[in-house]
Amino acid sequence: MTNVIVIRALDNFVYLHPCGDGRAFVVDPSDAPAVLQTLKQHDLSLAAILVTHHHWDHVAGAADLRGKTLCELIGVDHSLIPGSDRTVADGDVLTLGQITLHVIATPGHTRTSVCYYIPAQGGGRGIVYTGDTLFAGGCGRLLEGDAPTMWQSLQRLATLPPDTLVYCGHDYTLENCEFAVSVDPTNRKFRERLAEVQKALEYGRLTVPSTIAQEKATNIFLQADNPPIKAVLGMSDAERPEVFAELRRRKDLFG
Ligand SMILES: [Zn+2]
Repeated sequence: MTNVIVIRALDNFVYLHPCGDGRAFVVDPSDAPAVLQTLKQHDLSLAAILVTHHHWDHVAGAADLRGKTLCELIGVDHSLIPGSDRTVADGDVLTLGQITLHVIATPGHTRTSVCYYIPAQGGGRGIVYTGDTLFAGGCGRLLEGDAPTMWQSLQRLATLPPDTLVYCGHDYTLENCEFAVSVDPTNRKFRERLAEVQKALEYGRLTVPSTIAQEKATNIFLQADNPPIKAVLGMSDAERPEVFAELRRRKDLFG
């Protein structure tokens, strides 16, 4: 598996990723004290602060961490993230210790959202930090982008190797899976994933990471070309971005 350290901060997931040199970088640090405490517990120092987008619940602890650790704050929307040192764009490659990250632009939830992809190294599995673009079983709301833009971003993520581990920004997994089943109760894969998630939560287990393969098979927002789903929506002849838009609209109403 992976040695990613997951920190829960309300319904946000904050991640510490060890760099193999006694340091770790943090992704979307909403809670600075929790990050500092977890670093100490694991005898790690901070290598860098990465953010996927500018929303407060992903950057709230970033400036504080930067002040306390003097680490570079790397992200997007320079003007919107206090203390930001460096803005990344699609195709950028970052090296932190022994880890190489590739920046994938994924506009839709916000105009400048990015994901951070770490290709498989040394026989391990790749990892992608997806912020509020791709969730376990879901996707982010369309706050600054339109449906075709978000659909395109999700499609880019779907082309990553199937065994890539997906670490998303929020724990919305249960309601995402409930939504999928509500749209198409006959879909066995949706029902099985909902049951798995319910069981995981019952036993106090996390619902991350998922994998790209799992998301392609059971995330309804990646199924806009699935004939039964199109039929249920009364959109059998519609294009995929239109079907995706309708699914997102229904999810907004669902909760
Ligand atoms: Zn957000």
